[in-house]
Amino acid sequence: MKYISTRGRAPALGFEEVLLTGLASDGGLYVPESLPEYSAAEIASWASLDYAQLAYRIIQPFVADAIDAADLRAIISDSYAQFRHDAVAPLVQLGHNEWVLELFHGPTLAFKDFALQLLGRLFDYILERRQQHVVIMGATSGDTGSAAIEGCRHCKHVDIFILHPHGRVSEVQRRQMTTVAGANIHNLAVKGNFDDCQALVKRSFADQSFLPDGLQLVAVNSINWARIMAQIVYYFSSALSLGAPHRAVSFSVPTGNFGDIYAGWLARNMGLPIEQLVIATNRNDILHRFMCQNRYEKHELIHSLSPSMDIMISSNFERALFDLYQRDGSAVAELMERFNHQTVAVPDAVFQRARAVFDSFAVDDQRTLEVIRQVYESNEYLLDPHSAIGVEAARRCRRNSSTPMVTLATAHPAKFPDAVIQAGQAEEPTLPHHMSDLYQRAERYEVLDGKLETVQAFIANNISDHS
Ligand SMILES: *Cc1c(COP(=O)(O)O)cnc(C)c1O
Repeated sequence: MKYISTRGRAPALGFEEVLLTGLASDGGLYVPESLPEYSAAEIASWASLDYAQLAYRIIQPFVADAIDAADLRAIISDSYAQFRHDAVAPLVQLGHNEWVLELFHGPTLAFKDFALQLLGRLFDYILERRQQHVVIMGATSGDTGSAAIEGCRHCKHVDIFILHPHGRVSEVQRRQMTTVAGANIHNLAVKGNFDDCQALVKRSFADQSFLPDGLQLVAVNSINWARIMAQIVYYFSSALSLGAPHRAVSFSVPTGNFGDIYAGWLARNMGLPIEQLVIATNRNDILHRFMCQNRYEKHELIHSLSPSMDIMISSNFERALFDLYQRDGSAVAELMERFNHQTVAVPDAVFQRARAVFDSFAVDDQRTLEVIRQVYESNEYLLDPHSAIGVEAARRCRRNSSTPMVTLATAHPAKFPDAVIQAGQAEEPTLPHHMSDLYQRAERYEVLDGKLETVQAFIANNISDHS
């Protein structure tokens, strides 16, 4: 399988190179040159597979000859054996044709574990074969950092440096990152906000000369194609459980960078009968505004009760635009360049293709709390704030009550105890058993000022001895 850039001017790469790259050299994102497409009969034949077996069926064509089949099977089954639920991604019913897909049974209680457990193992396998060491550098507002650290904690060939804004991530999120022991794990609490952290990472990727010779930076945010690939699987597993491909299914997805819902778009293009994809956002609603008015316009960042969706621009939306523009890379490049300094619209045909599948809804903090309270009252089921936004958007946008509507529950409520208390719960939700001592574990992190030189010097001086 070859991968091409959404902006059409970077060289095509194989899976192994794409795994170890960030952005394409033309500023675009890598996508598969062509998608595998499956007939209804083929999809139906997967109904008896367990999660890891299904994951192998979906993932294998994307990896193809980069990894030997038996090794890939072992990597996948080990990745999902880390989840604390036998079904890996279980469905819970809320009401008539209304479902929640629980994606929070992984080690860090958010859906990002689905991709990052796999990614860490893929890195180590490929790097072992290449006898190469790499440096992962990433910025996090919470969930990505902990999932990446958990995914890479056992990697022999990776040093991982995660920047978080000092004092601005929740205590659970911070402790999930800073209590993981390992010589290759480095938590940097940077004085500044999340955007400052991300700017430091971007500038470091652009000029990597601060690294010792022979080392390169690798990205773990959702511009990394392998993360998207892993997320396609649970659209298939849940839809199969609900009767697909003999009936259609719809999904509502709490959306930030558009990585999770883009995987649903791919599942649909691969042949899964998905009727509707609902983009659920908080007040950082650039995609909702686009879907309403065909205006793609940046607004200031607003801090919300659903911090993992606090974004100004959804970087993976470019991947969907590439398909919506019928894979015209130069048109996407032209649009994205104009978007750097102005509000843009897309041609009507492109917009209509988007609206045929995507709906959207934006939910503010107050309504988020009401939904958490209301679903608890009606079902004694506790949603985290991100998932509550998904449930609300699903209810507002559904077109057809005879089609099952599945909301992706992207985090466990115990990750966001403050919001849950604000919603009127008497007590903080309890952490799952494997994390019950999180508040007793020793933390390890370095507080740094926000200067590029400080951060880069820290990284250069703390890469573990790998010779
Ligand atoms: C990362 C995250 C999201 C947003 O996912 P994207 O792929 O960035 O759209 C939603 N909810 C939670 C809990 C997350 O951690």
